[in-house]
Amino acid sequence: MTFREKNGYSTKLNGNSAASHQRSLKPKKPGWEYAESPESKDHIIINSKYDLFINGKAVKTGKYFSTVNPANEEKLSEIAYASAGDVDKAVNAAEKAYRNTWSRLSPKERAKYIFRIARIMQEKARELAVIESMDGGKPIKESKSVDIPLAIAHFFYYAGWADKLKFAFPGRQFSSIGVVGQIIPWNFPLLMAAWKIAPALACGNTVVIKSAETTPLTLYKLAEIIQEAGVPDGVVNIISGAGDTGAAIVNNPKVKKIAFTGSTEVGKLIMRSIAGTDKKVTLELGGKAANIIFEDAPIDQAVEGIVNGIYFNQGHVCCAGSRLLVQESIKNTVIKKLKYRLNSLRLGDPLDKNTDIGAINSRQQLDKITELVESGIEEGCTIYQPECKLPSKGYWFKPTFFTNVAQSNRIAGEEIFGPVLSVLTFRTPKEAIEKANNTQYGLSAGIWSDKGSKIFKMVNQVKAGVIWANTYNKFNPASPFGGYKESGFGREGGIQGLKEYLNF
Ligand code: ADP
Repeated sequence: MTFREKNGYSTKLNGNSAASHQRSLKPKKPGWEYAESPESKDHIIINSKYDLFINGKAVKTGKYFSTVNPANEEKLSEIAYASAGDVDKAVNAAEKAYRNTWSRLSPKERAKYIFRIARIMQEKARELAVIESMDGGKPIKESKSVDIPLAIAHFFYYAGWADKLKFAFPGRQFSSIGVVGQIIPWNFPLLMAAWKIAPALACGNTVVIKSAETTPLTLYKLAEIIQEAGVPDGVVNIISGAGDTGAAIVNNPKVKKIAFTGSTEVGKLIMRSIAGTDKKVTLELGGKAANIIFEDAPIDQAVEGIVNGIYFNQGHVCCAGSRLLVQESIKNTVIKKLKYRLNSLRLGDPLDKNTDIGAINSRQQLDKITELVESGIEEGCTIYQPECKLPSKGYWFKPTFFTNVAQSNRIAGEEIFGPVLSVLTFRTPKEAIEKANNTQYGLSAGIWSDKGSKIFKMVNQVKAGVIWANTYNKFNPASPFGGYKESGFGREGGIQGLKEYLNF
């Protein structure tokens, strides 16, 4: 019996099977299989239970929930589910720490703590990467080379700004805000926490942050790091729970600013809740980005950009290039190359260093992706998926693209948040701009062309917060990130990110 038969693979759209081994989507050629290259789990510590981290201490609560590894559905740990009362405790601790400690420290001293957090994260980078992949399903090569280094870079970057705010905003009077409430999603847990905590602390605020339901682990690892760095008690409070926990943060009158990353739906709820209050808010919400490929683009690089744009992190990326707009004259070439490339992607165990496509983050997300893909098929779009058998345990979805897509199809308009690309075509730059902007979102876009003047023309007319030219999904702590329209408002990263954490 071959390995494949033994593991009972399924070929359904969303089939299940044991992810104990990594496998290529390419038809198997004897002698050409990659050897397994699993990242070691020996050095990591995951407690069987995590309490809330409030006022520098572990605080028990009445209710706990499980967090599971989406690649094999095994339970990883029991996690505290913070009640509204727990949120009050965390906010009170943050308020006290703001009043008595953090706002009284010199900016230079604050910088030292932030710097220390970054240094300890560096020391524990491997452990953080492995846990991020186990809890979220993302390939280890991504958590190791993107999530964790970028998270660390944000702490270093904002440590540098803490005592230089006057240079960031010359001639202006400003002050810190107080307690900020931060709510993050499950696609980049530690990175989103860094985006939010680092600038908040640098500007002199204290924090209550809530992780997402399915990925709480690395935030509790961060709590350990914050303790080790000697950050004064109550300056950063880390809690976990679901939507009602988030809502309790939003509605707490002592929370003076909300920083939220998540769905547009919840973003709208938050706006309704804080209407009429003096709370500041930044919202980083959904997206349906156009990745626009002109006929004069370097095609092979563009195809890599398409793959990186939509299949990175299984497409669980708010700025994913989920709508490919390709110029008609090169459509067939691009599709041919894309098919070839999809067949070389390797789907499987997130902890294998060869894996390109890991597990879908949760059963719920898998159901959502499946429903939208089925709608594409029902509406007459043409689906392409590579030859691929999926593990029978865990949550998996084949890298997918659709051709024959009309702008009115659901898959062209709704955020799928999975490894699914919709391919549309255009003839002229004007048509490309119209199609790119034909969305309620405005978070990101990509433009591929050899001609600089064309790129400049496009970036001025495509309504998106971040536009990449001849690349995609590149991030740096010094460059601001954020959206227009229903993708939210406010910027994270760079000097612009500091502004959101100060009163002027
Ligand atoms: P996704 O669809 O990506 O899971 P959500 O917007 O549902 O995005 O979740 C993002 C974060 O918002 C999570 O931490 C979640 O617990 C939190 N959340 C969900 N509902 C609410 C709410 N009503 N108020 C505040 N936070 C919420």
